[in-house]
This record gives sequence, C-alpha cells and structure tokens, in this order.
Amino acid sequence: MVRKKGLNTLCTHVGTVKDEQFGGAVSPIYMASSYPYMNVDKKRYPRYFNTPNQEAVAAKIVALEHAEAGLVFASGMAAISTTLLTFLKKGDHIVLQNEIYGGTFNLIVEEFDKMGIEYSFTHGVEVSDFEAAIKEHTKAIYFETPSNPLLTITDVAGVADLAKKYDLLSFIDNTFASPVNLNPIDFGVDIVLHSATKYLGGHSDISAGAVVSTAENIDKIWNKSKNLGGNLSDFMCYLLERSIKTLGIRMAQHNKNALHLAEFLEANDKIAKVNYPGLPNHKNHVIARAQMHGFGGMLSFELDENIDAIAFKTNLELIKPSMSLAGVESTIIFPSMASHALLTPEQRAEIGISDQLIRFSVGIEDAEDLIQDIEQALKKAIKEVSMS
Ligand SMILES: *Cc1c(COP(=O)(O)O)cnc(C)c1O
Repeated sequence: MVRKKGLNTLCTHVGTVKDEQFGGAVSPIYMASSYPYMNVDKKRYPRYFNTPNQEAVAAKIVALEHAEAGLVFASGMAAISTTLLTFLKKGDHIVLQNEIYGGTFNLIVEEFDKMGIEYSFTHGVEVSDFEAAIKEHTKAIYFETPSNPLLTITDVAGVADLAKKYDLLSFIDNTFASPVNLNPIDFGVDIVLHSATKYLGGHSDISAGAVVSTAENIDKIWNKSKNLGGNLSDFMCYLLERSIKTLGIRMAQHNKNALHLAEFLEANDKIAKVNYPGLPNHKNHVIARAQMHGFGGMLSFELDENIDAIAFKTNLELIKPSMSLAGVESTIIFPSMASHALLTPEQRAEIGISDQLIRFSVGIEDAEDLIQDIEQALKKAIKEVSMS
C-alpha cells in the first residue's frame, strides 16, 4: 500500500515548479503576462488564474485541504466574493452564520440587496439555528469556525449534513483554523475559503485568498473569476508558496503557545474570562476536539474590571496592537474598537463583546516571554482604588 504523505511533506513539496533550465531547488518566478496561444480553452494569462506560479501555490493548498482543485486570489475577500457570486443569483437566498468575519458581513449587507440576493443570519451556531433560517428558495449555507472574536465552534459535519439534507451548497471560511487544524472537506463541506493573508501567508507581508473544492465547482468559480479579475500576482504566489512550506511547523507552535497562554490567562485573577476552544471549559470544547487537529493560535480574553484596558495595551512591550492577525508575531486588538466598532455598546453587550475584551493572535515567540509581557503590563494597569 502506498503511504499517504504527511502534512509537512505536502507543505514542503507539493506543486513546486521544476526548474528545467538550472535545476534550482525552488519554483522559479514566472512574471510573464503573455504566453503562446494553445487553444480556445487553454490560454495562459494571469487573469485566467493559470500562470505557473498561480497553479503551483493553488496545488499546495488543494493538497492540504484534501480537495480536487483550487484557485488563488489577490485577497480573501476576492475569493469569498467571487465564490458567492458564482453560485448565487437574483432571487436566491443564503443562510449565513451570525458570527462571521466583518468584511464578509459588509459584502453581504452592502452589496447583496442591489443584486436581489436574499440572506438571513442565524441567531446562534447550533445546527438547529441554521435549519431554522432555511427558506424555500435557500441555495446555500455559509459558516465559519472558530469564529472571530469569541472563538465559537460550529459543528462542521452537522452543518454539512444539513446542507445535503436540503440540497444546498455549503461554504466554510477556514481561515482561523487553517488546513493544518481543520479539513472541512473531510466532513462533507462543498467549498472551502481562505484569507491567505492570515496563517497561510503567516508573516504579515502577503495579501491573498484561496478557494478549494471539486474540479466541477472550481471550474464554475474559474469562469466567474476571469470576469471579476481578482487574480494574485506571480510574485505574491511565490511568497505564498514559500510561506506554506513552513505552515505545519508554524501552526504546531501557534497551537502550543495559544493553549499555554490560554491556561496562563485562565489561572490569572486579573483576567475575567478566556475564550479558547482548547480549554476543557469552553462551551464547544467537545466538538472542537472531535473535528480539529489542533485548537489554533487565536484566543480572546476579558480583562477584570479593575484593570485599565488602555493602560494594559499601552504597557505591552513585545505584543503589538494590530488590525490583522495570524502572523508569526503576537498581536492584540480590542474588537469593540475595530471589527465591532460600528455597533452600539448595547448591541455589543448582546453578542458578548465587552469593552474589556481583547482578541489575542498568539505568535510563535517563546511562550514564557509572552507571559512575562502580559504580567508586567497587567501590573501597571491596575486601577487606583479610591479611598474616599
Ligand atoms: C482576514 C479575513 C478575511 C478577509 O481576508 P482579506 O485577505 O483581508 O481579504 C476573511 N475571513 C476571515 C476569517 C479573515 O480573518
């Protein structure tokens, strides 16, 4: 029997373009935007998503996600918008998880009405919440796990089965888990999306996106892609391919660090609450354990009310405030001032996002240094108790 190749072997080798000219060890970068005409269906062109570097990095992501085919895009949102618009048309309805990435939420609420595409958001992430939102003209279900910023876990097999039962397409945004920690296609999900700007890129220097699925679905998406034009440049393809070679070892360190930090925060009396699916007291820990190979590098926590949140942020030395996430360096953000800034305090309270909540993208540094940084910043941020 032929042994299936392991994750790190796939990360390192799949897709590499052979350097026929010099025999170099890595994929050469092909910057050409002009290639010979082959035939009507097969013309190489960057916006046809089929240059050597585009195909090379797509092949790597396809292998990691146990898919048949895939495409890479210039951003996660290019992958998401192109994919949704491939399968939805005027009069169709889509059910979306209530907790989804802010950019995806904006795409839906700012663009779909004009196109006559109807949508409903669930009121929770249980399979029954998705089922309750299905209508007669529903065509698809869209979900995301773990969610941002509360790290809620959705039952991937449960939602995939529900989609099959009602003959709907299922889409998942697998950015937060990464293909190292979760492979939704194994659970029956139809289409997997990524912001490769995050873990796949991993070094905070690439904007990219990806979609993987069956060859039949990818063919349909390709047809829309060439019309919308969200293709990734060959130089970025090269950087992304290079980054994914270390995805397995990076994720192993992210997983290990985040669990360690979550346990440290949980035991700290200056922290009111920790959201991390790897903690046994997380409300979806059992599902997370069943469907994920690791619990990921993202967590969130609430500072105790006697900690000044701004002072805590200002006093961190190693951990930097940042809009983005999933890089090798640790970063934090206040969701109340970023992804959820446009909601009223009441709306935020309703979905569990307090002003003391911090989303923490745990990097690959030494965990003890991260702990020390948090400890010293907490000490400096204790509010003065008024004696009067
Ligand atoms: C960042 C992100 C996106 C959007 O990706 P871009 O590369 O910024 O377009 C989509 N989904 C999730 C979960 C993300 O974190």
